[in-house]
Amino acid sequence: MCGIVGYIGTEQAAPIILDGLSKLEYRGYDSAGMAIFDGEKINTKKAVGRLKVLENLTHGGESMKGTSGIGHTRWATHGAPSDINSHPHMNNAGTIAVVHNGIIENYQELKDHLTQKGYTFYSETDTEVAVKLIAYYYEKTDHNPLESMSRALLRVRGSFALGIMFKDRPGVIYAARKDSPLIVGQNEGGAFIASDLTAFIKYSKRYFIVPEYAIMTMTA
Ligand code: GLU
Repeated sequence: MCGIVGYIGTEQAAPIILDGLSKLEYRGYDSAGMAIFDGEKINTKKAVGRLKVLENLTHGGESMKGTSGIGHTRWATHGAPSDINSHPHMNNAGTIAVVHNGIIENYQELKDHLTQKGYTFYSETDTEVAVKLIAYYYEKTDHNPLESMSRALLRVRGSFALGIMFKDRPGVIYAARKDSPLIVGQNEGGAFIASDLTAFIKYSKRYFIVPEYAIMTMTA
């Protein structure tokens, strides 16, 4: 078990996400990472090891500017703990970022299908298959985030809590869930997603559990 934290709002996202991930450390993990939208593109930093490594790499989040982002602590199920297998995972164009807790049971079948369509893979994770499947439907649906996520998730067997960002939708982060914990919350300044309330209780006590198979659209 491991964790997800996401934030979109008026504050700098990276320090909030690092703080939230630190509250989820008790769940156990082997690596950590973040994706932050800087106004033009999605930047990612990720590293195997303790959250401290990611904190040092980003100077406590200071070096990743932006008011929306998603973060992750990973408990490897598919692919060894490594920098490259750490989340977030992205499509080849670097325009969609995904953090995932859970297991995609039919990932090999989906990977074979996407490989036939010309997609290439850089990691050994099941999660990279999910982001590339979303990317596949994103192209097919004329860049419609909700449509692409719902079509992709209908093809996935297994469990997932997901935080998702699209470069083309800068004011939004998305959350979706099936059989893995995920909650969303809100305050005057923005919105949060997390595996557990402890990650953002100090910012907001207004929250609810993401319903199974729902896709949440979170805006500032
Ligand atoms: N199955 C995914 C992986 O191995 C996610 C693991 C997790 O829940 O952190 O990368």
